[in-house]
Amino acid sequence: MKITTIFIAILFLYGLNTTSIKDSSLTFEQSIAGTKAPKSIIDSLEIVNVEYYDADGKLRSGQFVLNIAVAQDVKEAFEILKKTKFPVAKAIPIVEFDWDDNASMNANNSSAFNYRFIAGTERLSHHAAGRAIDINPMQNPVIYGDGKISPKGAKYNPKVPGTFTTDSEVVKFLKSRGWRWGGDWTSLKDYHHFDKP
Ligand SMILES: [Zn+2]
Repeated sequence: MKITTIFIAILFLYGLNTTSIKDSSLTFEQSIAGTKAPKSIIDSLEIVNVEYYDADGKLRSGQFVLNIAVAQDVKEAFEILKKTKFPVAKAIPIVEFDWDDNASMNANNSSAFNYRFIAGTERLSHHAAGRAIDINPMQNPVIYGDGKISPKGAKYNPKVPGTFTTDSEVVKFLKSRGWRWGGDWTSLKDYHHFDKP
């Protein structure tokens, strides 16, 4: 084999080892297309690239639209998730689900910015300012006081990989940075939700 052939073969193998499966590679403009958020909020946002392992142990890359003030925390949280191989199904900005939180949750998608009300209310969610993040809603559903679960068909079982508990490293880390975790709430449990108002 010629040296150049060997060189190309090495580059190819190296590429196979390090390339992640791309779940999302939007530009910032694409990631906010069609949002009803005012300019003041849009100006406070950025798009963040993250890498994570899925439940099959495959390295993937996705994106979050976040308030610039909290983006660094999320980057570091994903470093922890990646290092500990905590599986994340996918992270795709919610524009790809036509800004429909239910559609995103049903797809077990993790997301952040969405200019929307808190489900069942007319109060703006912390997601509306890009200051909240939802991770793996199927493993970490909302459980309302009456026992109703969202997304439909989801189950909360701390033994299933990708499920958060008070002992999860990333839960402890985000709390240490001033985030609240919905799993600590008492009127309802929102296990996939973190926010930093
Ligand atoms: Zn949330």
